[in-house]
Amino acid sequence: MECKGCKLHETRTQIVMPRGSQNPKVVFIGEAPGKNEDIQGKPFVGRAGKLLDEWIKYLGLTEDEYAITNVVWCRPPENRFPEEDEVLACQKNVLEYLMHVKPAFVATLGKLATGFMLSTKIRSMTSHAGEILVIDKFFKLCPLFHPAYFLRNHGDWKPMLENLKKELKK
Ligand code: SF4
Repeated sequence: MECKGCKLHETRTQIVMPRGSQNPKVVFIGEAPGKNEDIQGKPFVGRAGKLLDEWIKYLGLTEDEYAITNVVWCRPPENRFPEEDEVLACQKNVLEYLMHVKPAFVATLGKLATGFMLSTKIRSMTSHAGEILVIDKFFKLCPLFHPAYFLRNHGDWKPMLENLKKELKK
């Protein structure tokens, strides 16, 4: 895929496309690729990715049941937060991808991805994390903290995943 939809194409090494199943039950959406992702061309391959792998294992998802992507698909320079015009430009890619793979659940990782899916700005994840929201007839939304949040504060992430874990067993 070639895309020059926003200024991030000038500084990226490559576009970081979604990875995982073509028929996922759950799609996890993070913010943007970091340095490792930009080099390897895969989302969530660094420390946050390792923690996300633990979450996926805890949720009991097999390889063919999940996929991972980001709100923007090219690395912002110096890992800065994606800017509004970049998010808007990449929205088409993300929504087309979701319409293509049709997950039953979209699990957003952090404020940017949650705000993106809810079409609003999220100030804090505290009141949203772990909820199951029905905002679309095609999938349920499960907002989660970004794995980096737990890497910083060493909190217990299991309670946050309980609702999604129960939903996945239904
Ligand atoms: S971030 Fe998205 S819109 Fe911008 S150049 Fe990359 S793929 Fe295209």
